[in-house]
Amino acid sequence: MTAPVFRFAPSPNGELHLGHALSALTNQRMAAKSGGRLLLRIEDIDLTRCTPEFEAAIRSDLAWLGIAYEQPVRRQSEHFACYEDALERLKADELVYPAFMSRGDIRAAIIDHEASGQSWPRDPDGAPLYPGTDRTLSSRERRRRIDAGTPFAWRLDTAAALARLPDQLNWREWGDETMAATTDIAADPLQWGDVIIARREIATSYHLSVVVDDALQGISHVVRGLDLYFATSLQRLLQQVLGLPQPTYFHHRLVLGPDGRKLSKSQRDTGLAALRDAGETPETVKAMLGF
Ligand code: GLU
Repeated sequence: MTAPVFRFAPSPNGELHLGHALSALTNQRMAAKSGGRLLLRIEDIDLTRCTPEFEAAIRSDLAWLGIAYEQPVRRQSEHFACYEDALERLKADELVYPAFMSRGDIRAAIIDHEASGQSWPRDPDGAPLYPGTDRTLSSRERRRRIDAGTPFAWRLDTAAALARLPDQLNWREWGDETMAATTDIAADPLQWGDVIIARREIATSYHLSVVVDDALQGISHVVRGLDLYFATSLQRLLQQVLGLPQPTYFHHRLVLGPDGRKLSKSQRDTGLAALRDAGETPETVKAMLGF
């Protein structure tokens, strides 16, 4: 049997906080218990927000916590061609379409709709779904707009992708960290609507690059926070239409701030660097997280 492969996949667009530490430590512990390997992946497709300084800080925070990972580290910004390849396949299969509505157009359509007293559907993160108006544009009209230089993003035709699958779409989730048993969870990608798969300024998206890389790196165990639980529906759909293997997932609890909300990279007091500066040691930080 091949060894399980885990990954910790932070984005270097801010400092790591206690929530990231919990994720990295949980991956480390589960990998150790199962005789697995641990990889680090730097998810830096957003070249405007990700910086080498944040990446260096991630590496030193992990070293401080005593988390070792295999080399080489995969940096997504060095692999745009892999994501483009996957996008080309989705285009060839007519599962993505050029979406021309700007943020302003979308907002206006929603305000208009809600003015009539009906609410507009939202995704699990609370963002309004894309109206999908240009899903049905003729190929001629698409060509005309593209040739005229109208900005657009590639969006997934989620319903069409789902309709291509022969079976009910599920993902496999471990019941707990012991990895004793899994449950099949019914995926519901439609709750995300037609998500962006690639943008003009970033030729991929989080969802596309994550599934491509999980497959390329042979990730068998995806361990991450519950904030990404619902995203799994969409990622399973992309895996299926791209013919990629399915990992087993474990979504761990989130570390909440004093206000009971999920930590963010702007909350400096729970940042690992700030905790270190305040005199905390790797041991006290681990103890805070139950390790
Ligand atoms: N890069 C994502 C983040 O920092 C995590 C991706 C994942 O674990 O699937 O939130």
